[in-house]
Amino acid sequence: MSLKYNIWTIGCQMNEADSRHLGSQLESLGYLQTEQADEADLVVMNTCVVRQQAEDRAVGRLQYISQLKMRNPDLKVGLMGCMVGMKESGRLKKRFPYVDVFMPPSDTKPLMHFLAEEAELDADKVAETLQKAIVNAIQDEEYILPALQKTSTVIANVPVVLGCSHACTFCIIPYRRGVERSRTPEEILHEVEKLTAQGVREIMLLGQIVDRYGCDFDEPYDLADLLKDVAGNDQLLRIRFLTGHPNYMTDKLIRAVRDIPKVCPHFEVPVQAGNDKVLGDMRRGYTAQDYRSVIARIRAILPDAAINTDIIVGFPGETDEEFMDTHALLKELELDKVHLAKYSERPKTVAARTLPDDIADEEKERRRLIIDEQAEAIITRRNLRYQDQVVEVLVESRAKDKWRGRTPDNRLVFFQDERELLGALVNLTVTQTGPWSLQAEHAEILVPPYQPIEPVEVARA
Ligand code: SAH
Repeated sequence: MSLKYNIWTIGCQMNEADSRHLGSQLESLGYLQTEQADEADLVVMNTCVVRQQAEDRAVGRLQYISQLKMRNPDLKVGLMGCMVGMKESGRLKKRFPYVDVFMPPSDTKPLMHFLAEEAELDADKVAETLQKAIVNAIQDEEYILPALQKTSTVIANVPVVLGCSHACTFCIIPYRRGVERSRTPEEILHEVEKLTAQGVREIMLLGQIVDRYGCDFDEPYDLADLLKDVAGNDQLLRIRFLTGHPNYMTDKLIRAVRDIPKVCPHFEVPVQAGNDKVLGDMRRGYTAQDYRSVIARIRAILPDAAINTDIIVGFPGETDEEFMDTHALLKELELDKVHLAKYSERPKTVAARTLPDDIADEEKERRRLIIDEQAEAIITRRNLRYQDQVVEVLVESRAKDKWRGRTPDNRLVFFQDERELLGALVNLTVTQTGPWSLQAEHAEILVPPYQPIEPVEVARA
């Protein structure tokens, strides 16, 4: 009987990509995926610590897993991602003694080595065969989608820049994901090719500061060059990238988005705050005026592009007046979407070491609601222009009785259709607009749905 694995993932798209990669490696060793942790032989938690809330959820999950381990001492437990960081120093081992193996973000090797050692200890398991498979899994880079994802993956995340060297004062990521390093174009193109051969039709290129892609190369080769090369893949329909940093949004990059048809007119450029004192304390490296100019440059080249942003409210010392600058900037710029967070103090960051977390949670919540309302009003208005328009949608999943997909500018669209349309590119007429999604009808197929590859054998309860 095959062994079963279960991976639990929270946090960013990078974690989703890492979990997919790990699942694929485990399946190459003969493991089958199960969605039920209580019937797994191996459970992995891929964690996020960007805010306290995410960390708390991971700790909650660990408690649940500790109960499973008590019932089944043979259960193997892995902890991965930003909770672990680049090197586990023994601190987590002490706190969670039932965890067998710790993996830094994007690094599955510790688990592979652990499984190889286990095989050596256990004479019943065909150690040699398994170890060979493990060596292959480490070197593989075949990017086979895990069986359960083979039937459903229209969009796949592909990391292109790992780590981050920017050190914004609020952010824990550089401490947990290590220094910034770009993957080679060859590696990325190979991964994209493997993914599209398995049905994937849209690729999201990922980096903490994705527009710094290639800054660490000897030869000049940047994100615009990469977009062009990735677009050369004939099976691929769409490309997106995130997250941008305002300081690296070059005209060359914006023009590449305009000129390469497969690249979607969709930018993710976090502003974080609209006040220069707060931006300075955050060490973001730009002023509100600089940010305005970036948005103006994007709109001059691509007037209809979606521009999304991230905002943190309640950063240490942020006065009400300073906060209102953020509010005013958002109102002025009419950005499409705001990923909004209340400041959460994170261990070892510059802010945690030097600035008291002095805004009460009720006040943070009040500011959050004000921005949220503003953002909703803007997006409601901006979405109105789609009423009765024809939009192009890539169908990415089914939600109850409706298909769900996105426009090139990342608007979520729902529509009813009896046909099997997963992966299809369709034109739709918008019948209703709202802040969070558009409703549409009359699908006209531009590119037929993909034929999902049937998984051979899947472990389900
Ligand atoms: N690298 C990107 C995004 C990193 S994390 C950037 O340069 O902006 C994603 C988002 O989480 C951030 O944009 C920020 O808005 C939020 N975030 C990061 N650290 C946070 C903290 N300590 N408290 C609250 N939100 C935080």
